[in-house]
Amino acid sequence: MKILLTEKELDDGVAAMAQQIAHAYGDKPLTVIAIMTGSLILLADLIRYLEMPLRVGLIQASSYRGGTTSGQLTINETMQLDIKDRDVLIIDDIFDTGKTLREVMLRMAELKPKSLRSAVLLNKQGKQEVSMQPDFVAFNIPDEFVVGYGLDYQDHYRNLPYLACLEPQDLQSPFPL
Ligand code: 5GP
Ligand code: MG
Repeated sequence: MKILLTEKELDDGVAAMAQQIAHAYGDKPLTVIAIMTGSLILLADLIRYLEMPLRVGLIQASSYRGGTTSGQLTINETMQLDIKDRDVLIIDDIFDTGKTLREVMLRMAELKPKSLRSAVLLNKQGKQEVSMQPDFVAFNIPDEFVVGYGLDYQDHYRNLPYLACLEPQDLQSPFPL
């Protein structure tokens, strides 16, 4: 596995993004909605850099992709908070095609927040298939499949403290069950 971002680089990038977020919202109360499970570590690290009154809600987004048809996104809102008339920041691990975040933003907009913005740890360059862009991005990365710092490959590797690119031999080695 090749390390793309070290623990220190990740921390610096998340701190810098937190500063931009703090600058945008000031002391106003913020509702953070994190898309599970990939943004778990980002959520924990980011909110500890933010000092405004802050609430945290969680949603889970899963896409079911059958054949070549584009995926239908299902959003589980069991741990969501009431966001009506709130300033809301959606956070996700990675903006790839952008379809997941766009769908989530459309769904959240239906709940009538006062404002709605998005923050992602990673923006994969050259992959976007939607016209929207996240409002806050910690890192732009090349088009490689990455794991660690919350991101998984078949539910593994989320616990790596750094971000790594999976190489062909990593894909071949089966996980112990
Ligand atoms: P999008 O809808 O933007 O194409 O995909 C976003 C989701 O795909 C992310 O939330 C993440 O779950 C997954 N994904 C996209 N690229 C990567 C990657 O390089 N590594 C991992 N682990 N997941 C990715
Ligand atoms: Mg995800």
